[in-house]
Amino acid sequence: MPLRLFNTLSAKIEDFRPLQNNEVRMYTCGPTVYDYGHIGNFRTFIAVDILRRYLRQSGYKLRHVMNITDVDDKIIRNSAQAGVGVQQYTAKYEKAFLEDAAALNIEQPQLVRATEHIDEMADFIAHLVEKGFAYRTEDGSYYFRIAKFPAYGKLSKKDFAGMEDGARVDVDEYEKDNARDFALWKAPKPGEASWQSKIGPGRPASHIECSVMSMHELGESFDLHAGGEDLIFPHHENEIAQSESATGKPFAHFWFHARFLLVEGEKMSKSLGNFHTLRDLVLKGHKPSSIRYLLASVPYRNQLNFTDDGLQQATASVERLRNFQGRLMTGKFSEGLNPGIAKLAGETSDRIRAAFDDDLNTAQAQGAIFDMVRAANAAIDSGAIQKADAFALLTTLNQFDEIFAVLKDDDAPKMQRIADWAKAEGREKNITPELQNLLKSNELSDEQVNQKIEQMKAARAAKKFADSDAIRAELTAQGILIEQTKEGVRWRRK
Ligand code: AMP
Ligand code: ZN
Repeated sequence: MPLRLFNTLSAKIEDFRPLQNNEVRMYTCGPTVYDYGHIGNFRTFIAVDILRRYLRQSGYKLRHVMNITDVDDKIIRNSAQAGVGVQQYTAKYEKAFLEDAAALNIEQPQLVRATEHIDEMADFIAHLVEKGFAYRTEDGSYYFRIAKFPAYGKLSKKDFAGMEDGARVDVDEYEKDNARDFALWKAPKPGEASWQSKIGPGRPASHIECSVMSMHELGESFDLHAGGEDLIFPHHENEIAQSESATGKPFAHFWFHARFLLVEGEKMSKSLGNFHTLRDLVLKGHKPSSIRYLLASVPYRNQLNFTDDGLQQATASVERLRNFQGRLMTGKFSEGLNPGIAKLAGETSDRIRAAFDDDLNTAQAQGAIFDMVRAANAAIDSGAIQKADAFALLTTLNQFDEIFAVLKDDDAPKMQRIADWAKAEGREKNITPELQNLLKSNELSDEQVNQKIEQMKAARAAKKFADSDAIRAELTAQGILIEQTKEGVRWRRK
């Protein structure tokens, strides 16, 4: 079975196959770097990351490009307010975005920046003018003439029939020929950043950059174009109009859109107080792995409601998976194989693949892995697991984690980095006791913990229980949880 994906353009679930050979060429609309990324942004970028990881796991080669929008109205306004240049202003937020994405184990695509492709954008606009698809207004701005592109609306399914050129409805200050015509290039305004170019001074408008950079990197027709659902209109509709008018060829084959995130049942907004950046949540003591797991838990086309409860559950799920992995890796199993367990591992692997093939059904993949964990934990308890079984179960767990990427226990250093950032930014008061406690567990190295545990075991063997209890209490205070299992003493960080 091939991967089946919903294509916004056809409004259908289709078999996905690359246009050329075995290589998938994919473009994601990246962040506008004028502020710290919020969890809605990361819901979309994680959805794309899951797609990306699954394409690779399915054996495709991947060329994945993402833009960093480092020039737009908000950036120009904010940087002017802050009294710094556009580049200085965006560099800080671009760095923060990349750090946050890395904390969430989002693999980094090849990055392209709008400000590094201004000349190509000017060339592209000149080409559209030559072909009659664009025109210049008196002030030196350029617009796309949508009446020349009858397919306008095909992505968003909006009907623009009857929108005749020259129907001067609500014409704004730039004297557009048609109210729907959209900007390709904006003439400079006093005090605003602008560039010299062959079509005159100014700056690119918001849709042109993605058309130009995606085709520059991936070719005129490529496989996948991705972003959040708010981008369908006008951003992606406009990208299609510009690109297909310029080349006369289909632009992206598949359009992938992630549904908008809700927070505690409401739209995320600053005024509702439910607006969370990744950094806010980490300062409250939430682990990046829990956040990633929750954001990945609902299939990308379904509405995900981000709640505190959901976050607690995600934390527990990740912990269960890590414990299960620990049991398999450290357990002492006898040589041999139990056919029932091999079958369980194999069937679970098939179920996970089938779930992803079904338009990336992450919820079903998670359901499959937990069915396996439940059955396999019971088998470990009853001594039914042998060495080859442990290996088979770990292989399936690994297949799952190649996509979900939550098993590696590296939350603490990531959280430490964000705590350090808060201190450097004078936001120390936002570091909660929850985060402080979690970070304490990071002060001891693995080796130091192992040494203390050996001392504790030795004290216990010598029946010096007061000593062994004291060591245990010391470790607990540092956030190290100790468990007595059949396979011996195990520990983990809180
Ligand atoms: P921006 O930085 O505003 O350009 O957005 C970056 C990406 O995040 C785009 O793909 C948006 O569609 C997406 N996005 C913004 N807000 C949300 C949200 N609440 N839920 C899901 N995706 C979002
Ligand atoms: Zn874009």
